[in-house]
Amino acid sequence: MRLSIIGLVLLSGLVQAAPTWQLVSSEPGKRIELDRAGIKREEGNKVVALARLVVEKEISDTTSGGTYRIMESLTRYECVQRNAANLKRVYRKSETEILREEELKGESLPVRSGTLDDKILREVCRPQTAAETQAVLDRANEAATQLKVANQALIDKEKAKATKKPATKVAKVVTPVARKHAPAKPKKPEAVVETHQHTAHWSYSGEGAPENWHKLDPRFKLCGSGQRQSPIDIQDSIRVDLEPIQFNYRMVPFSILDNGHSIEAVISNGSITVTGKTYDLFGIHFHRPSEEKINGKRFDMVAHLVHKSDDGRLAVVAVLMEKGMENRFIQTLWNNLPLEKKMVVSPPNAQVDPMAFLPVRRDYYTYMGSLTTPPCTEGVLWLVLKQPVAVSQEQIEIFSRFYIDNTRPVQPAYGRIIKEGR
Ligand SMILES: [Zn+2]
Repeated sequence: MRLSIIGLVLLSGLVQAAPTWQLVSSEPGKRIELDRAGIKREEGNKVVALARLVVEKEISDTTSGGTYRIMESLTRYECVQRNAANLKRVYRKSETEILREEELKGESLPVRSGTLDDKILREVCRPQTAAETQAVLDRANEAATQLKVANQALIDKEKAKATKKPATKVAKVVTPVARKHAPAKPKKPEAVVETHQHTAHWSYSGEGAPENWHKLDPRFKLCGSGQRQSPIDIQDSIRVDLEPIQFNYRMVPFSILDNGHSIEAVISNGSITVTGKTYDLFGIHFHRPSEEKINGKRFDMVAHLVHKSDDGRLAVVAVLMEKGMENRFIQTLWNNLPLEKKMVVSPPNAQVDPMAFLPVRRDYYTYMGSLTTPPCTEGVLWLVLKQPVAVSQEQIEIFSRFYIDNTRPVQPAYGRIIKEGR
């Protein structure tokens, strides 16, 4: 038995070791097992896995006229599309006796629910371990972390200019304002990149309110002194022909969490191209009401679709949301809302298509701004779609249970150029 399985495995060239079967599901007379150690992940969210169906009562095989009790299946699963391509099948009379083998063309077909492929796809396409769940959390924090690094570089540069000393030395200087407000905070080497958990607590009300952000931590300085801050009241824009944003979105799995400041969906498949530059979609989070105003008007909510280019530049697409019909995209996210802060939900059977969330008309306002949360890093390309999408009263109320108002006040434009597609 070992030899034949090894033979199968070697022939396929896709799995390296002899299978060690682990139970995936079992019902009376039938169980489904997976060779977890042999799972092979490929690019583009594809997974090749060897699984088997083991039944108590023999099944007749019409092809050979014999019977089998074990059916092994080597399959390539496309996690994003929920497709499966069977590559090879081995039918066994018993653990030790093969009835027949069949090489398959590997045609990619949609997975029907309740089938062996459905159960295996669910297993192999979701984060398997605490480490992988952590990886999702890390990905959610990655953009913020990168921006903190960029922000620190800016602060260093400014201080270096002011003191005429090398940036690395002055990076450790704590400003008097910061010392006054954070007396107990120990100095740390500047190489340490802090995560949300360690930074001074910021919020939308009380001591941590937006007007105090710049005092909470020296790295939040730009929140107070920056002249390219977001959000803004979008007005006096110049009307020109803008190149359309090219959206390369599709149906993808997602993870969702309450990051302590908003509900955030981590979606790492998809990109936009604008003025010749491609930015990868990173995640979508929400504000209620909208942070940005258009000619003085706020909207019921806004979604920020955060993108990052290979060289670390950020582009945020803002989709304004207005009370109306139920929004299916939002409903899929809300259906999977986590029960606790920082708990990551990666639903195995739900996917979303950000394309379906976009308004029909895609003309937009654009200006250079910042993150609207500490450290308020500047250099962010803002693309605010002009046409709002609908969201139901109930869906707004659900968000309100998490965040009733997570909006930074509008910031002075300081004569910034705002373009508007005509
Ligand atoms: Zn935002």
